[in-house]
Amino acid sequence: MRGLMMEDQLLVSDLIEHAALNHGFQEIVSRTVEGPIHRYTYADALKRMKKLANGLERMGVKLGDRLATFAWNGYRHFELYYGISGSGAVCHTINPRLFADQIVYIVNHANDRFVFLDLTFVPLLESLTDQLPNVEGYIILTDAAHVPETSLPNAMCYEDLIAPESETFAWPVFDENTASSMCYTSGTTGNPKGVVYSHRSTLLHTFFQCGGESFEMSSKAVVLPAVPMFHANAWGLPYAVCMVGAKLVFPGAAYDGASVWELLDSEKVTFAAGVPTIWMMLLEYVRQSGKRFDHLTQTGIGGSAVPLAMVEAFEDEFNVQVFHAWGMTETSPVGTTGAFNCKVHEMPLERRRTYQIKQGRSVFGVKLKIVGDAGETLPRDGETFGELAVKGPWIVGSYHDNDEANKSQFTRDGWFLTGDIATLDEFGYMTIVDRAKDVIKSGGEWISSINLENAAVGHPAVVEAAVIGIAHPKWDERPLLVVVKSEGAEVSEADVLGFLEGKIAKWWMPDAVEFVEELPHTATGKIAKLKLREIFKDYVLPTTAASGG
Ligand code: ADP
Repeated sequence: MRGLMMEDQLLVSDLIEHAALNHGFQEIVSRTVEGPIHRYTYADALKRMKKLANGLERMGVKLGDRLATFAWNGYRHFELYYGISGSGAVCHTINPRLFADQIVYIVNHANDRFVFLDLTFVPLLESLTDQLPNVEGYIILTDAAHVPETSLPNAMCYEDLIAPESETFAWPVFDENTASSMCYTSGTTGNPKGVVYSHRSTLLHTFFQCGGESFEMSSKAVVLPAVPMFHANAWGLPYAVCMVGAKLVFPGAAYDGASVWELLDSEKVTFAAGVPTIWMMLLEYVRQSGKRFDHLTQTGIGGSAVPLAMVEAFEDEFNVQVFHAWGMTETSPVGTTGAFNCKVHEMPLERRRTYQIKQGRSVFGVKLKIVGDAGETLPRDGETFGELAVKGPWIVGSYHDNDEANKSQFTRDGWFLTGDIATLDEFGYMTIVDRAKDVIKSGGEWISSINLENAAVGHPAVVEAAVIGIAHPKWDERPLLVVVKSEGAEVSEADVLGFLEGKIAKWWMPDAVEFVEELPHTATGKIAKLKLREIFKDYVLPTTAASGG
């Protein structure tokens, strides 16, 4: 017997229609690439999205066509999210910080028909057009007054494109499993891999984000995505705000501490989300300038592990709650969230914090397990570690046109292998020990680079820390700690190592500490371990001589 309920398709266009109808007054504020702050409402946004949809139709865009975006977080990018997906085409966000050859690979591999780009990226795209034979035209996200002289073939101005179009457009209705958007992983090894989200996966992920034990989402919230819209759909926030009718604040291209703080303050932001690097810059700025957070109640932090020192800074110094989450481009991206369960909630602060720096716990919709080398399921005892495997309706089922990864990263019974080494405990809390390729193998045992880094940044003079394995004749690999110290601080190798004593297992103690001006970061703002390993590839540990090697 079949259920007799309506088979109404879950479509992205319904989100913005809902927002405009029920929260049409709500503001969307953007720091623009051109300079000034732009303000309008959900009702205004919907009208312009419909003009865009009519424009796309005139350009001959069809269901399933890929349209690329190279854009910061702003209202025009937001219009593309909905105008493109709502029309049945695929909004393909591209990370402009990737290497040029990766960008070329991505645009060609996805077969993007048109490219929409912010002014910032005109020179970048101009230098690549020769290698992008299938792109039919470039739409610059600005108005006629700001359009630059450009060699981009078939260049158009976004405002000119949508200006003549009607504000009336009936969103097409199609199968909810149709592709809505697309994002390539940053490909720290090999070529980037394409993840294709569907309307259904996007809406289910949004329901989860707005319901129950997740971020503080409601029409009373003021949300600032400090994670770029080209990084896993800004963690789904541009969709979630429409479901609940929250005020939305876009930081544009400015992610430095002063600019982010200014918007948090002037727009009375209550919730902001980003990677630890962004919050590190913000905390430095707020401390040095003696500022406070008068409105911010919660930060969502993920993408890399959150150090305990960061939780303490936000919560104890500034009274802002830290909400830690884990995810991947492949998981839409939220896979676990750090909401306390009732048992953890009752624990004393210090114990609660040990849960807060875990990567979060299972949410309904994402099944988690850890597997051993032979694919066997390992116990959920909080200690045994293995590769984290996930499954669910907003988890990647296969990569776009990539036989190799589709063979190696999925199990026969349909689980996605994340490449993260993790433990799971009795409550479903997951802890990432390391990325499989970053773990340090010393004497047949594993040392977690993440744990060492988090312990090191607890030192008041350490701003950022990274640990990599250096070849060692006796132990295979031993940890090297690379540190950026805060401006003007006097701190020695012995100070840092002394600080770690008692906080980590004895045999995890780094063999050396190197101080650097800055650490290399990936296109998504994480520490670029691959680059760091390259920089230190000829490094010889002082203990190498001692061990006779
Ligand atoms: P990339 O890092 O390659 O740009 P993603 O943004 O998809 O791509 O990164 C996903 C990876 O980031 C995860 O597999 C995991 O290793 C790491 N990650 C994400 N969130 C966390 C977290 N809260 N703690 C530790 N690592 C995390």
